[in-house]
Amino acid sequence: MADESTTMPAAEEAAPLDFIRTIVNQDVQQGINDGRVHTRFPPEPNGYLHIGHSKAITLDFGIAAEYGGLCNLRFDDTNPTKEEVEYVDSIQEDIRWLGFDWDDRLYYASSYFGRLYECAEQLIQLGKAFVCDLSPDEMREYRGTLTEPGHNSPWRERSIAENLDLFRRMKAGEFPEGNRVLRAKIDMASPNMVMRDPVIYRILYTPHHRTGTEWCIYPMYDFAHCLSDALEGITHSFCTLEFENNRPLYDWFLEALSVPHRPQQIEFARLNLTHVVMSKRLLRRLVEDGTVSGWDDPRMPTLAGMRRLGYTPESIRDFNARIGVAKANSMVDFSLLEYCVRTDLNKIAPRVMGVLRPLKVIIDNYPEDQVEELQAINNPEDPSAGTRAVPFSRELYIEQDDFRIDPPPKYFRLAPGREVRLRYAYFITCNSYETDPATGEVTVLHCTYDPATRGGDSPDGRKVKATLHWVSERHAIGAEVRLFDRLFSVADPTADASQSLSEQLNPSSLEVVQAQVEPSLGDAPVGAHYQLERQGYFTVDRDSRPGQLVLNRTVALRDTWAKIEQKG
Ligand code: ATP
Ligand code: MG
Repeated sequence: MADESTTMPAAEEAAPLDFIRTIVNQDVQQGINDGRVHTRFPPEPNGYLHIGHSKAITLDFGIAAEYGGLCNLRFDDTNPTKEEVEYVDSIQEDIRWLGFDWDDRLYYASSYFGRLYECAEQLIQLGKAFVCDLSPDEMREYRGTLTEPGHNSPWRERSIAENLDLFRRMKAGEFPEGNRVLRAKIDMASPNMVMRDPVIYRILYTPHHRTGTEWCIYPMYDFAHCLSDALEGITHSFCTLEFENNRPLYDWFLEALSVPHRPQQIEFARLNLTHVVMSKRLLRRLVEDGTVSGWDDPRMPTLAGMRRLGYTPESIRDFNARIGVAKANSMVDFSLLEYCVRTDLNKIAPRVMGVLRPLKVIIDNYPEDQVEELQAINNPEDPSAGTRAVPFSRELYIEQDDFRIDPPPKYFRLAPGREVRLRYAYFITCNSYETDPATGEVTVLHCTYDPATRGGDSPDGRKVKATLHWVSERHAIGAEVRLFDRLFSVADPTADASQSLSEQLNPSSLEVVQAQVEPSLGDAPVGAHYQLERQGYFTVDRDSRPGQLVLNRTVALRDTWAKIEQKG
């Protein structure tokens, strides 16, 4: 029995235990499985991991860690037709990135094919499995419906010897695909359809990414999963609610085969998030039809996409801690995830200035060749981040949006005759502007600065109502900025079956602008996070090259104006 003081850390915390931890806690206290906790995360390598998987990962690895136990990574690779090595690699990368580790416990269901086959022969010998020759259509007919019982297959009473012979010949490749299957002999009248003599092996002549052409029969998920759990000594096997009906079958196989170790399946509600789709099948379609640029397109709800967008593992773990686990299905608002990202980036991202849609400003009374180095605070949330010098000169850029010829009421930014503060620099007043004769668009602002306001403070207590960010034209670096937004414009793109996915895409989920950013971003490495003041959090994209900076907008700032006003 494990030491109770080390196995119940969660009990000491103020928050009540969720239903899963309550079960695990009880099991540990009662010495079930000798007080051991051993979980597994069992992805099928048929796509990249998405944010929904992060809920299962934090649960599987998190609970094991909380109880001093272990968590295995096991690829559930029993279906060779959809699985690829690319996915096996990406899944491992993503779990490590999230901050979890399986040490040397990396397993594959396919490693157990030999033992699973032996278990199947054993079931035949026990009279609990039979080879069935019904076609898939016939099988469907015999299966019955939710309201009507099914019928026994005419092949159900084959002798053990005949079943063994046929199953061995299935394995030897004597029959074509779809010709025969091995089925468990349970109960065709069971109210639980899953229990109506389910298929446990099928013939498939598809090479497997690990076992090649060694096998031409493959076990079904229900058979492989419970036995893999048992073989690995798993104590608690967490899965999502749609497997609730499969639990009796999970237990039936373990019981029928008298396995010495009995893992327990516990179901929890899957994560559903607004404005995305989460099924790998649908995500794969978005990749294949070119709607997105790949599995790691920053608009994808995949962990690879979110990482590229600039989400941090800390923020995703925080998100999972906040949503908790329960047994009722629900939809979580995407803005909660964004809130977690913002909260984390607020602590760690250096502040810089960058102008997304540049409008040129000439300070007419500023000496032509003069350059000043002004001190800027790197992160007001983190004094240890220090300060940096930002160059100021006569010709600058500000945001096009920060100037209006005819400012509407409550618009406090720059306008003809108006004075504003340039962050860390000076008060400037706009005196005139130039326009493009063809389009009428404002092209240049002519301003004057007040040298007495250096650093952004006025000695005479004069107030201005806005503080603008800016960059010095001569020193600025051009950057391609990708302004991402939600991929779908509706909260639940699968809710209305009459609407195709593509009809519900957000048409402005990506806008690209050519920005000008301060020179401190010159050597920014891929993955570095910044807050562009007043604009949001941005992360250097992997498309960046020396001399060509590419930034992804990770998440917008919420209280942009409120914050700047207070600090000004
Ligand atoms: P999808 O339907 O998205 O393809 P899946 O369940 O088929 O997902 P698996 O690779 O089989 O994907 O999942 C591995 C583990 O992750 C399983 O235990 C599964 O229950 C869990 N999981 C998958 N999606 C979610 C989700 N949205 N929320 C919580 N857990 C999930
Ligand atoms: Mg699956």
